[in-house]
Amino acid sequence: MSIDPAADLPFYYGSISRSDAEQHLKLAGMADGIFLLRQCLRSLGGYVLSLVWNLEFHHYPIEKQLNGTYCLTGGKPHCGPAELCEFYSKDSDGLVCTLRKPCLRSPDTPVRPGVFDSLRENMLREYVKQTWNLEGEAMEQAIISQAPQLEKLIATTAHEKMPWYHAKITRQEGERRLYSGAQPDGKFLIRDREETGTYALSMMYGKTVYHYQILQDKSGKYSMPEGTKFDTIWQLVEYLKMKSDGLLTNLREACVNGKATENTPSLPGTRGKRQNGYTPPPRAVAAVSMPAVAVAEHRDVLPMDTDVFNPYHNPNEVRKFNIQRTQLLIDEVELGSGNFGCVKKGVLKTDSGQIDVAIKVLKSDNEKLVKEEMMREAEIMHQLSNPFIVRMLGLCNAENLMLVMEMASAGPLNKFLSSNKDTVSVENIVNLMHQVSMGMKYLEEKNFVHRDLAARNVLLVNQQFAKISDFGLSKALGADDNYYKARTAGKWPLKWYAPECINFHKFSSKSDVWSFGITMWEAFSYGGKPYKKMKGPDVMRFIDSGSRMDCPTACPERMYAVMKECWTYKHEERPDFKKVEESMRSYHYSISNKAKPEGAAAAAAAAADPAAAEPSK
Ligand code: ADP
Ligand code: MG
Repeated sequence: MSIDPAADLPFYYGSISRSDAEQHLKLAGMADGIFLLRQCLRSLGGYVLSLVWNLEFHHYPIEKQLNGTYCLTGGKPHCGPAELCEFYSKDSDGLVCTLRKPCLRSPDTPVRPGVFDSLRENMLREYVKQTWNLEGEAMEQAIISQAPQLEKLIATTAHEKMPWYHAKITRQEGERRLYSGAQPDGKFLIRDREETGTYALSMMYGKTVYHYQILQDKSGKYSMPEGTKFDTIWQLVEYLKMKSDGLLTNLREACVNGKATENTPSLPGTRGKRQNGYTPPPRAVAAVSMPAVAVAEHRDVLPMDTDVFNPYHNPNEVRKFNIQRTQLLIDEVELGSGNFGCVKKGVLKTDSGQIDVAIKVLKSDNEKLVKEEMMREAEIMHQLSNPFIVRMLGLCNAENLMLVMEMASAGPLNKFLSSNKDTVSVENIVNLMHQVSMGMKYLEEKNFVHRDLAARNVLLVNQQFAKISDFGLSKALGADDNYYKARTAGKWPLKWYAPECINFHKFSSKSDVWSFGITMWEAFSYGGKPYKKMKGPDVMRFIDSGSRMDCPTACPERMYAVMKECWTYKHEERPDFKKVEESMRSYHYSISNKAKPEGAAAAAAAAADPAAAEPSK
């Protein structure tokens, strides 16, 4: 799961209020330059730096930018909260003074989680389960690969899980609920306002109920009239618990919505439960840019979205080793071709519906050897089941030998990127390459070597969903082996091969890691050709001399750093996929603009409360 990048800092207190922060600084002695860091309650992913100078408190909000960097209002960007604090410990750069001494958390003061932090995990699971009907390993993989996107989706609806949220009730009903039982000041509830799609706050004060309209600005931010703006309703509520912000009093006790705590309300954007696996497809294949699914209002497509056969599910019920010829409709459309024959588009008819498939058709004039090769490829694929690996649905032995696979209709990654340069962002590529690393980590765990990992063999289901394919050269390693030794060299993709493959014919998951580095290079150069016009032997000399390809123009430094690690000469020193996936994941999470509603992010910096940066006494 994504973790708060400040979690390990000894001067980080989590979700504490401004006055709590000041209390800690007081107890620590109020020396000039003593500071602490806390979670920002207004902007998701942001922090506040609280600093003492001249016996006064200064609070500076730190915003998380769209590109994943952190800055003080008007300050330089930094890649994380730790780096930011380190910078300001050397250079005051606009602060009243440098950060001189961290106000350390005592052992009995744990980092205080925000309300959402503790709910997040459960909500993610519930959401994924309800929305895509995923369970078990498929659910875990979906969550790992899309955590930032999912968090963003859920943060905006988190209030629906809160006990104070009463959904659509009338003003009168709100009053009735508040007046029932004790009537302390600050007892409150949030309800939907009739007809308008906005929210209202109803609160008890002096035994009287007051109603406030919650405003929402153009960028989607919520606030009380003339109050501080927030990305989400639950943040607004948390803030109003600490600061009245124009209300008659702070919010205190929640008027509990009995229903909300007993059974969880259905999450918005969730669609009715589908039957397990897939629904009979409408004959339109999910297009690349427009998913067939009525995706929960204006958001990016997620890998799990699709109304046709869902390639995210484990299709065990449709996987058969033997497919009858009568179950197959073969289209004339060729998806690709090779020495073996060609890959055609088709439809597989099963008891529960029709599935779009890709069919690798062996040329009929092929000799026994090629047939055996394809059988071996099928045998390997049959043993693999992971969302990020193309699944084989079966073999059909008819006029030709045919290998039937799930369809990845957006085609090979290199082609897709070179023809969609303008619409694919770097974040998008990071997400896809992280998925590839997840698929490769799975292969590594199962002790398979791919031996032909390249952008041409990463196929896309849609712009957000990648699958590893082409197991023509793959091998299952024996339980005690960690490499495969090829007796003779064949027609090998040398530019993708690690030195030990070429020199000693030794293939392992570590040599797949080298290929992953080349695949990353291809991806971040939008389908560029590695090593330009160099020939195989030139490349070997180039590598032996210690040279490596340059960082592609659009490629982030941290991704280039991963590539270079993948190109560690000695396989013993090269990272494995477990490590590579970790690096990809942490970068993917760090740049995905966590939990900010669409469109609101850009306005976030502008909306930051400038008063918060001023000293308060
Ligand atoms: P080769 O061993 O000749 O490289 P591949 O398995 O890579 O064979 O398939 C060749 C081409 O066929 C791919 O580049 C791709 O365009 C297409 N293709 C293969 N499998 C699929 C699939 N499951 N879905 C969509 N297209 C596919
Ligand atoms: Mg191929």
